[in-house]
Amino acid sequence: MENNFKITSEVIKESKCDDLYFIFYKDSILIKFIENGVFIPTKFEVEGFNPFFEDKFYIGELDGKACFALETSRELQLKEGFEFVKLRECGLLLDENLFTIAGRAKQIIHWDKTNKFCGRCGTKTENKVDERAKICPHCNNVMYPVICPAIIVAVTKGDKILLAHNKNFVSGRYSVIAGFVEAGEDLESAVKREVFEEVGIKVKNIKYYNSSSWSFPNSLMIGFFAQYEAEEIKVDGKEIECADWYSKDDLPDIPENFSIAGKLIRKFLNGLN
Ligand SMILES: [Zn+2]
Repeated sequence: MENNFKITSEVIKESKCDDLYFIFYKDSILIKFIENGVFIPTKFEVEGFNPFFEDKFYIGELDGKACFALETSRELQLKEGFEFVKLRECGLLLDENLFTIAGRAKQIIHWDKTNKFCGRCGTKTENKVDERAKICPHCNNVMYPVICPAIIVAVTKGDKILLAHNKNFVSGRYSVIAGFVEAGEDLESAVKREVFEEVGIKVKNIKYYNSSSWSFPNSLMIGFFAQYEAEEIKVDGKEIECADWYSKDDLPDIPENFSIAGKLIRKFLNGLN
């Protein structure tokens, strides 16, 4: 993917008519359906819906247009062609750049909502003007957006890949193993621990693949490949209901390509080298 989106150190910017407004209502985002695709509305278009926004966050720039994250607490009077769509469903609709920016917008809105008051003394916080942070005017506690690192790993055994069904997946869906990194833990140890906890096997030759922001609600997914080393599959029965080795021509239903899980599995299908 060519990534034209730039995050800058600025946190405040005047908005112009053709800037992009990433507007959330509950867990849905406003998008615009037109003949040749699906887009994010501009400030000019949104102003026609008589909106009210408590706050507006500048989150970066795409092809010379400033991008803003906003939230509305009430429904807007939308014109034809505009619709609020659940962010998860946008992975299949929006271009990958726009989906990534929408994810960043959602994380900033989530951070804003969950840090209105100081976690140390309870005073109402204020937005800092020189960096993306909130500050408590009483005790000077500074609150940055929280990002939770999680590992995701495709384990291979010869020409087969380990795929597991998590109890939270839709019926028939299988994916690779994933889990949050513990405080004080390095990434390789997290890979080994998660695989052993969830499916009871040991892995070796852990290799970094790629990383991806995942905004449900605020993770950074760090993707790896690893090779099977020892032990038989034994699922934990809590998160993972079943798991098995699958060959390329015998795959179950797998995640879409906009997720890093989907990308890892397709990389395996296309050959690892
Ligand atoms: Zn405080």
